[in-house]
Amino acid sequence: MRIGYGWDSHEFKKGVPLKIGGVALEHTHGLAGHSDGDVLLHALTDALLGAVAAGDIGGYFPPSDPKWKNADSSLFVSVALAKVKEAGYQVCNVDSTLVLSEPRVGPVANRIRQRVAELLEKQDDHKKLEVAAAMLDADKHVDEVVKGLISDVKIEKRPRREKVRT
Ligand SMILES: [Zn+2]
Repeated sequence: MRIGYGWDSHEFKKGVPLKIGGVALEHTHGLAGHSDGDVLLHALTDALLGAVAAGDIGGYFPPSDPKWKNADSSLFVSVALAKVKEAGYQVCNVDSTLVLSEPRVGPVANRIRQRVAELLEKQDDHKKLEVAAAMLDADKHVDEVVKGLISDVKIEKRPRREKVRT
C-alpha cells in the first residue's frame, strides 16, 4: 500500500465561478487561479502523483503555460490517475479536508464525494471517500480566510495477472 498527500490553497476572487471537487457551487466568490482554481482537485492530483512518486502538479501543468488557463481541473486528476494505473496501482481510499468559512460544504459534500468518485472511476464506491469540511474562525473577512485542502490517497497494488502459457 502507498499513501500520497496533497495540500493546496487558493484565494477567493469576486465574480468568478466557484468549483470545488468538480462541482459548481453558487457563491459570490470563486477561487483565483490560472486554471478553474479547484482546490480540492489540485490537492487530490498531487496526492495521486505523490503516492506513485510521479512528480507533482506543477511539473505537469505549470501555471506559466497558457494552455492551462481556465482549464477544467478534472483533467489534472485523470492524468494523475493514469500515472497511478501505469504504476500498477489502484485507488482504495481518499480522505479530504476542506478548510473554508463559506459557503457551507455540508449541504454539498455528498455531491462532491460522488463527483470525486466518478473522476476516480469508483462510481459505486463514493461513500468510502471521505470529504470532511472544517469551519474556520468566522471573524475574518471572507476574502482573507485561508482556504486549504488536505487530501490523502491510499492506493494498493493490483493483483498481477497470471501469464497464460501456450
Ligand atoms: Zn491549486
